[in-house]
Amino acid sequence: MKEIEKKTIGSMPDDYTIQTVAEAMKQLGDASRLRIFWLLCHFEECVSGIAEITGMTSPAVSHHLRLLKSSGLIVSKRSGKEMYYKAADNELVDFLHHAIEKVANITCPQ
Ligand SMILES: [Zn+2]
Repeated sequence: MKEIEKKTIGSMPDDYTIQTVAEAMKQLGDASRLRIFWLLCHFEECVSGIAEITGMTSPAVSHHLRLLKSSGLIVSKRSGKEMYYKAADNELVDFLHHAIEKVANITCPQ
């Protein structure tokens, strides 16, 4: 076996990590979710706020937020009777955030 093959196999991520990354990327394979995720990388917002920004209905936004949250890409926080969402604080989210900007060829507004 070639040295590069041995090294690569030796650093292969475990099943849990591979699953987590695959699930996150699957969720971002939807254009609406990708847009919402990218917005939430910069500020926190509630369902109606995201609906207004994106032109989607609140039920549609809620559906996308549920999927993004269950894949660990965003987190929520209750403030009064309103729920606010923002991107999770982890390495994968940080990477995906900047990968989107790199591919879109835009500068992070932050
Ligand atoms: Zn950014």
